Amino acid sequence: MISKKRIYLTIDWQEQNILDDTNRRQVWERERIVCLPGDYPEVLPCSNPACQDGGFEIGNRVKMLLASDRDSEQNSLICRNAIHPDRNKRCLHTIIYTIACIRPYQRERSPAVVSETV
Ligand SMILES: [Zn+2]
Repeated sequence: MISKKRIYLTIDWQEQNILDDTNRRQVWERERIVCLPGDYPEVLPCSNPACQDGGFEIGNRVKMLLASDRDSEQNSLICRNAIHPDRNKRCLHTIIYTIACIRPYQRERSPAVVSETV
């Protein structure tokens, strides 16, 4: 269990793939992880079986959020193989993600913990 005295992060993401010839979208289950600011994944895995060493570079986004004053960010990322020099190895998978930074003061603002001793 994660102590409520510390900042922690939640990362939610949903992967999708635009099917080239039909324009239909293939959508995966939404996933969620909870992690600490010093222990978050640099890369989220890509589900494309044909994609070698692919993935979504979430680490930089988490770092930017932690360095900012904001508490959450919602955006999208393309697979790092989207710019593969070999055209046949390009991957069209994307994710839509939300990173939320849960800071201690947000949890202690509740009246139920006013009497808490330091
Ligand atoms: Zn990929």
